[in-house]
Amino acid sequence: LETDFDLVVIGGSAGGTHAAAAALEYAPDSRVALISDEDRIPYKRTKISKSFAKGFDPDEFAIYDAPWYAQQEVTLYTKTGARAIDRDRKRVVLSSGEELPYRSVVLATGARPRLPELPGTLSDHVFTAHRAAQIERLQQAARRSDAAVVIGMGILGAEVAEQLCRMGLTVHLVGNRSRMIPRTFDTELSELIEGVFRENGVKLYFDEPEHEIEGEPYDFTVHLRRAGVDLSAQLLVYAIGLDPVVDVARSAGLSVDTGVKVVWSLRTSDPAIYAAGDMAQLPDGSVTHLWRHAMEQGARAGENAIRAIRGEEQEPYRFVPFREKCKVFGHYFFSLCVPDDRQMSAYELHRYERGDRLVRAYVSGGAVHGLSMVNDMDREKLCMAAVREQWPLESLVSTLEL
Ligand SMILES: Cc1cc2nc3c(=O)[nH]c(=O)nc-3n(C[C@H](O)[C@H](O)[C@H](O)COP(=O)(O)OP(=O)(O)OC[C@H]3O[C@@H](n4cnc5c(N)ncnc54)[C@H](O)[C@@H]3O)c2cc1C
Repeated sequence: LETDFDLVVIGGSAGGTHAAAAALEYAPDSRVALISDEDRIPYKRTKISKSFAKGFDPDEFAIYDAPWYAQQEVTLYTKTGARAIDRDRKRVVLSSGEELPYRSVVLATGARPRLPELPGTLSDHVFTAHRAAQIERLQQAARRSDAAVVIGMGILGAEVAEQLCRMGLTVHLVGNRSRMIPRTFDTELSELIEGVFRENGVKLYFDEPEHEIEGEPYDFTVHLRRAGVDLSAQLLVYAIGLDPVVDVARSAGLSVDTGVKVVWSLRTSDPAIYAAGDMAQLPDGSVTHLWRHAMEQGARAGENAIRAIRGEEQEPYRFVPFREKCKVFGHYFFSLCVPDDRQMSAYELHRYERGDRLVRAYVSGGAVHGLSMVNDMDREKLCMAAVREQWPLESLVSTLEL
């Protein structure tokens, strides 16, 4: 007998699991299906790039343990893609051909790693670091390798480079900008993080937008065009950004721009379909890319989907800024609402240094609008509150004893 689901959630990660959980918390008798095309129960993606040097068990980072799905009566599909949404018949079509009738859908298909065009012989031998299964393959290949090239100097590239270095490889880290993690950190934090990488023997190459690869799998050379340098390696990892996964949404005829367009209740252009996380484009045009935001959007979308079925009023999602962080080689780097290089002149910078700790506060009209910090992890919650609540600078100084 076919189950008629109140909610079918497509994508089992931050957005998807929290959509299912919130729907059930709001209406415990809801019939919910959660569809994931990955090979294990949904897990905390944030952990995998930080943990592969020591290795991890398949379910070590589970968001909810396996019994939770049974207890909550969530019908969980793993290794199963949602192939299409038949909006006229209100059915989600799975890769197996099975069809799930729905009353509402939450799309939480996330983002996929960007890759450049690659020579055919190598395309199966380069790595990305998005799924646990990919990271496990990367870890196995790293065990057979002496040297790695990591392309991409964002947080993910930095984490992967650090882990490979911890595994004993010679690591070349290549970026197309003039400093590390430029989209998240201010120049001083970039310089500090670069120092930490250099101290640990990682070789850094900046301003390198173009490279060529020659050779065979596990024995190739990456030629950096601008510097004219050849890097020999057995392992090549790309961490050059992510693109929202919108295929299913687009072929279902939903409104898509950079991501799937939603209003603040997270409803898409179809009133029975919601979207959350790295694939949803908010009404201000932004697409968030942090775990916390995907989680909060998932929860809001799941609850609103059930409210819609019941004809109840929708609650808007409210974006609250969350810190970005990078913990590498025992050092902790934090950033929240730091103005970008072009806006920098509109703020006064107040800088406080004690030992290896550093706080940089961006102040306007006497209030804290942005903050970057190094090695003061215990007080990151206070740093976050200071920015979100725009504390007067004196309060920051006295509370953090700067
Ligand atoms: C390695 C790594 C480390 C990160 N570390 C941090 C961090 O420290 N802090 C932080 O805030 N953020 C971090 N991020 C970003 C954060 O993980 C994402 O913002 C978050 O995972 C987004 O959640 P999501 O649910 O929108 O999508 P995703 O996590 O991308 O998950 C989407 C899921 O949907 C599946 N899917 C896609 N299409 C289909 C389909 N048709 N049918 C079925 N399933 C489908 C995908 O396979 C995937 O499992 C990290 C990202 C990566 C890749």
